[in-house]
Amino acid sequence: MYKVYGIIGYPVSHSLSPVMHNLAFRELGLKAVYGAFPVKPEDLSQAIRGVKALGISGLSVTIPHKVEVINLLDEIDEKAKEIGAVNTIINREGRLFGTNTDWIGALKAFEEVGVSPSGKRVVILGAGGASLAIIYAMVRACAKEIIVYNRTFEKAKEVAERFSVLAYPWEDVYDAYGDILINATSVGLKSFDSPVAKEVVSRFSVVMDSVYMPLETKLLAMAKEENKIAIDGLKMLLYQGVEQFKLWTGLMPPVDKMREAIYREVLTLYCHSVHHPTVTPTEGRGLPENPSTKKSQAWRLTLLPEKEIKPLRDFKRARLRVPSSKSLTQRALICSALAAGKSRIINPLLSEDPRLLLSALEATGVKASFSENNLIIEGVAGRPKLSGEKVYLGNNGTGTRFFIAYASLGQGSFVEVFGKERLHERPVAPLLSALRTLSANIECLEREGYLPLRIYEGKLKGGKVRLPGNVSSQFISALLLIGPYLSGGLTVEVEGELLSAGYVETTIEVMKHFGVDVERVSGVFRVKEGFYKETEYEVPADASSSSYFLSIPLILGKGEVYIENYSATSTQPDVALLTFLKEMGAKIEVLPLGVKVAFEGRPKACEFNISDCPDLFPTLCVLLACAQGKGIIRGAPHLRYKETDRIRAMATELKKLGVEVEELPDGIVVEGREDFKPARINTYDDHRIAMSFAILGLRSIGLIINNPACVEKSYPEFWEHLESVYAQNS
Ligand code: NAP
Repeated sequence: MYKVYGIIGYPVSHSLSPVMHNLAFRELGLKAVYGAFPVKPEDLSQAIRGVKALGISGLSVTIPHKVEVINLLDEIDEKAKEIGAVNTIINREGRLFGTNTDWIGALKAFEEVGVSPSGKRVVILGAGGASLAIIYAMVRACAKEIIVYNRTFEKAKEVAERFSVLAYPWEDVYDAYGDILINATSVGLKSFDSPVAKEVVSRFSVVMDSVYMPLETKLLAMAKEENKIAIDGLKMLLYQGVEQFKLWTGLMPPVDKMREAIYREVLTLYCHSVHHPTVTPTEGRGLPENPSTKKSQAWRLTLLPEKEIKPLRDFKRARLRVPSSKSLTQRALICSALAAGKSRIINPLLSEDPRLLLSALEATGVKASFSENNLIIEGVAGRPKLSGEKVYLGNNGTGTRFFIAYASLGQGSFVEVFGKERLHERPVAPLLSALRTLSANIECLEREGYLPLRIYEGKLKGGKVRLPGNVSSQFISALLLIGPYLSGGLTVEVEGELLSAGYVETTIEVMKHFGVDVERVSGVFRVKEGFYKETEYEVPADASSSSYFLSIPLILGKGEVYIENYSATSTQPDVALLTFLKEMGAKIEVLPLGVKVAFEGRPKACEFNISDCPDLFPTLCVLLACAQGKGIIRGAPHLRYKETDRIRAMATELKKLGVEVEELPDGIVVEGREDFKPARINTYDDHRIAMSFAILGLRSIGLIINNPACVEKSYPEFWEHLESVYAQNS
């Protein structure tokens, strides 16, 4: 007979417990199922009676019932009594027995990262259910001192009395200090919220967040920036679930598979939950999975706070396929979303940014399905549906700009656009002003010219807009992409020299593939009224992602790299790397399929203008760090507004390695050297910084990359591919 388990709480629609428990039941071949039951506080006693009447075998208990449920059970064990909260119920022949496994979850989370709370000063924020279990865990682990801060001081005092620990009022939290900081409040569920400021975080060496959605809360992001050990809340969730499973079934569940399932779920669920609040998690739900990224889950899910790069002394050659182009994928998403009918995007890159854009498009009526490397997009025929959704775009600058223009064509009520804090700092004023000239109806919710913002139905019409050339080319691309759907078409006049012009070429290339021509006369772009046709589009390898591996022979001063799926004739601006590498002395061989870079000796320091290919900046910085003499990179003032101020970030991190650098308003001067000091590299949540320094780490000793998971943004398989370079040369 099937056994039924479940979770009660309110709300529970986003609980990850069904994902991990159902997977464990299936893997072990047990006839059991686990559901999510929303139970309002006033219905709790009725629900518990129902559990008995229906013979439900076991329950997880979550907010807000962990304390109240105690009075409704037949028995609770000593641990649950001491903690004062129950998170697990076992039905023993009609008698309901309560216990608590959250505390074991917390302890195991510390164990997993090799941190022992024993003898440490531990500060715990919050005095609710999670806090009770965590304090209990810290007491059991022999913490030297435990201090609880809570917004409602009375509750903090009650809890402190129960466990003989210290209670401080919330107002004093700015003075908190110690070894371990644990957030057990619910502050952090919004990606821009943190219970404490960075200054407080800086006074601890380990930071744990019990909030697990988003996976990297603001608190954990700050901890990583400060080079602290950051422990995410999913670890605690996993291990408390493992203990529950053992109690219900007497069996050890498949922990690694459960871990993989919940991390994957939270990475996709977080993107969806914001704008699909009614979706309940079920197996198989979520964004289409690109099979090419599946293999990389294993390392990703360990989410290491840092990664040490081993030097690669005996490099000879490496052969690789790199993921498809992110720029081209995002442009193809917009064209196919605006087209009528079904388009097929072959080999799209479904890393974080395109996934976020795809989710946003889905929230406006676009339908997407994925099979065998093909993304099938059913478009909205130029009329996105605005139905009051909130869309989250993470830190996806390009996607956000494209989406703002796209949604301005919409009909209905409105769509609200927001993202990570950094995205809210990236200006969109020139785009908004151009769209408003065309009668778009956009309201900035906090600060004029910045996200978050709302796009209402407007009466968008064609015409002429002017944009300065020294702002992001993404604004121009965004406008051109919607050009065919404006009555009378669109003329974009660029004043002054257009920076990153290459990316506009890429946009034009994709638009052409979807049947729309862009006419260009010096700085004027014209798009005629028309429409995108449903079509097939195959995305080539990403030139920016390829840049790291193509640089290896010059970084190491020897060997050759062959990238099989590289298109040297693509309009992707970062194909310019081939020219730059050649100037530095590399031998470039363009093959019918792919490209080969070979080098021997010490690279020449050169002067590079990257106004058309600014994404190459981090790669070129590390190349110049190994070159003979002083090299200069210029032409990219807007790099200061990327995921991070890339010029400042690269300069700061290169200096740690002993490299002499001088920041320029639009670039950098780098004096090359032969050897480097050991250093811990801060990656500022910037994928390109992580990947460029990882390649430099092949040459230097003791280089550690913080937050290696940030490569997820554009190149989820990066670490796996780097491993394959070692394997090919072992
Ligand atoms: P709870 O019993 O409702 O307690 C919430 C706590 O957060 C209280 O201390 C509350 O303070 C505090 N709080 C809420 N809003 C606040 C604000 N704006 N400023 C300062 N403090 C605020 O919830 P819980 O069960 O302890 O859960 C807390 C968090 O931990 C939730 O996000 C939950 O998902 C997470 N959790 C994670 C795991 C895991 O396995 N990772 C397990 C359990 C819980 P007051 O007392 O003043 O209201």
